[in-house]
Amino acid sequence: MSPYSGDAYVALDDSDVSRITQAQLPVIFQRQGGDAPEFLPKLGAKLSANAMNVCVAFDGSAGATCSCRIYEGRPSACRQFEAGSHGCREARRRLGISA
Ligand code: SF4
Repeated sequence: MSPYSGDAYVALDDSDVSRITQAQLPVIFQRQGGDAPEFLPKLGAKLSANAMNVCVAFDGSAGATCSCRIYEGRPSACRQFEAGSHGCREARRRLGISA
């Protein structure tokens, strides 16, 4: 059974799409709302061992030992997300992980 859930996870820009495709990870073109629908590329998601939707490049468990399989080639959105930032602490709080 494929670990890939078919859902999208993180938004990609054009340069991300070519790196992610070369890494043989799924790129999803997810329809956005509006009168003129747009299809934006995103990196796919998978179900973790504890049935959470996580990025396909994520290994391990949130709040425990974990890593990004494509860290050097990770998407621009991931590069802009700073560990310890307000957004990071909010995400940890939502997952029940100490900030
Ligand atoms: S840093 Fe890596 S594991 Fe985390 S969302 Fe980005 S690509 Fe996925």
